[in-house]
Amino acid sequence: MDRRTLLKAGFVGSLAYFLNLRPTRAEEAGETFEVTKSDEQWRAILTSEQYDVLRKEATEPPFKNKYFNNKTPGRYTCAGCDLPLFSSETKYDSHTGWPSFWQPIEPTAVRTKTDWKLLYPRTEVHCRRCGGHLGHLFDDGPPPTRLRYCINSAALKFVPA
Ligand code: FE
Repeated sequence: MDRRTLLKAGFVGSLAYFLNLRPTRAEEAGETFEVTKSDEQWRAILTSEQYDVLRKEATEPPFKNKYFNNKTPGRYTCAGCDLPLFSSETKYDSHTGWPSFWQPIEPTAVRTKTDWKLLYPRTEVHCRRCGGHLGHLFDDGPPPTRLRYCINSAALKFVPA
């Protein structure tokens, strides 16, 4: 391989990396989950939007999603496995255009890992039971936790109280 080909391969590789064409799922980081399915099985039970978010770590557009402005009392379960994840009682308006919570419904409902998809590390949040990607965790939330769980509506199912 000559130098130019090598450079080209390096460039394409880096581009693919930053365009997120590499696997980043929690399973691949060595975690195990109670609910596991093949890729085909997930495709069969999820909408394409749910699949892209939960299984491929996509992010839905802000302000154009189902629950960012939902103020109805109830709880939000995982769209992949129905595990209760968040309550309307800890939901707040973060003005980001995504459903935002300052705490999960149970401390063990979600897990986190470091996400290097952008040029800086972020804390990725996923469902404890199925490993489905939910969103990200930031430390600019309101009291009492000062946390902001920034969650994709497509990863959630709302169950009114
Ligand atoms: Fe789940």
